[in-house]
Amino acid sequence: MNATTESDRRDETAREARLAQVLDRSGFVLHPASRAASDAADWAMARTPAGARLLIVAAVPQADLLDDFDGERGEHGGEPFLVGPLTARNAAALRCHLRWLEPRPLPPATSAGFGDRLGLATPGHVRALRAVGGTITPVFAQQSIREMTRTARSPQAVIDDATWGSFEAGWQAGQGADADHLKTPGDITACAAAGFTMFTLDPGEHVNRDADSAPPGALREAWEALPWDRLEDSPAAMRARLAGRAFDIEGQAVHLDEGTLLKAAVKYGRAVAHVTAMYRHLCAVIGGRPFDLEVSVDETDTPTAPAEHIFVASELRRLGVRWASLAPRFVGRFEKGVDYIGDLAAFDADIRVHAAIARVFGPYKISLHSGSDKFSLYETAARHTRGLIHLKTAGTSYLEALRAIARVSPDLFRSIYAFSRGRYEDDRASYHVSAALASAPEPGGIADADLPSLLEDFHARQVLHVTFGSVLTARHADGSPVFAGTMQSILRAHPDVYAACLERHFVRHLRPFAGR
Ligand SMILES: [Zn+2]
Repeated sequence: MNATTESDRRDETAREARLAQVLDRSGFVLHPASRAASDAADWAMARTPAGARLLIVAAVPQADLLDDFDGERGEHGGEPFLVGPLTARNAAALRCHLRWLEPRPLPPATSAGFGDRLGLATPGHVRALRAVGGTITPVFAQQSIREMTRTARSPQAVIDDATWGSFEAGWQAGQGADADHLKTPGDITACAAAGFTMFTLDPGEHVNRDADSAPPGALREAWEALPWDRLEDSPAAMRARLAGRAFDIEGQAVHLDEGTLLKAAVKYGRAVAHVTAMYRHLCAVIGGRPFDLEVSVDETDTPTAPAEHIFVASELRRLGVRWASLAPRFVGRFEKGVDYIGDLAAFDADIRVHAAIARVFGPYKISLHSGSDKFSLYETAARHTRGLIHLKTAGTSYLEALRAIARVSPDLFRSIYAFSRGRYEDDRASYHVSAALASAPEPGGIADADLPSLLEDFHARQVLHVTFGSVLTARHADGSPVFAGTMQSILRAHPDVYAACLERHFVRHLRPFAGR
């Protein structure tokens, strides 16, 4: 069903009038972009004093569809309607009736992942996508298990918040849903059940960080000790298959001599075995539903050499794994919330060869993790990947939420910032950041009007970036949230301020990738 054709066919004026009548009766304000029409009903979202509500006016012969939803039923002029809360059941029913809201696998073309820790960012992400043109497929629902734990969100809540945000903004052009940085089979099972369509496997804990510097004797020992049974392989067979081979990567030869093979296998062999086991588990639990697999080793210590990328790709392929994107660990530093730190020429050469390997062994996409705020890399990344790229951002939407809060509620922002400074030394442990607390300005000395500019300060920005979990889960003695509830109600009360912050920031991310 095509919504535009459908709405053209229906009597626009009559539909308008019906929704207006429902709205009048309830005193609601419609989100105009949310209005949608199907054969069976007219759909919209409204802002009300009690929060956002789903409105459905059903065609009389289709009145039964309202049974799929929770809410208050009514009738106007003989037409049944429902005013419902934004519950999980209603989100699931809405995805069934308006299929464009349902996450699905991504096309083999440029895509972008937008993390959303507060669950309110999708309308702003949509504005940015529309501003740059509609050639980038979005992933609105995207969160790692680590972040879900830190923000006390469930996989289902992550999916549902993106459903409501897409519905509110009228985004009908398709979307994926990325269960990011999954480390265990249990993570996969939970996210598959919630309806995710993209599964990012992170075998980082199985990457041998000592391989790059190990002396030959230790390397040989580690090679012998690889999990050969799980690799369905033997040292002799792997050596015969790969040692001494030269791979033609679009005219450039990459050699896998014996020493290079040993190092690649020791560094990534256990990761290959882990990804294979995770992939097979995913295939078993997803029940035939199509999905995208991403393999990501971005959060490891040393860069992925071209020969190592080839090793991983050829071995995963041998083991029957099928993937849509791969995130190598690139050269340089990809710190949270700030631009690339490193040699731009070295990155250029690095992504050039990784993109070529992805075309030869796939084609699959190169995924750029910690992709937010890496403004100096986007042109290069877009050029070398020729559209086969996934840009993944996560925390930068939270920082834009803080910018919006700094504008409309300086006191709240000031107390969040003070709290974050107090948490930084503990919270930074699991992140790649280098901000120094002493260099992050003291909250007391900053005028209200200058607070948003803290989001431009390298040190303050990283301090705010990595402390989101502590901020969002901080509780008073009585169990009530210290910040999270107030933050959300302020963002809900000023949706245009937040969406404008997101649009401005994300246009800068997306524009270099648009239209390729
Ligand atoms: Zn990552």
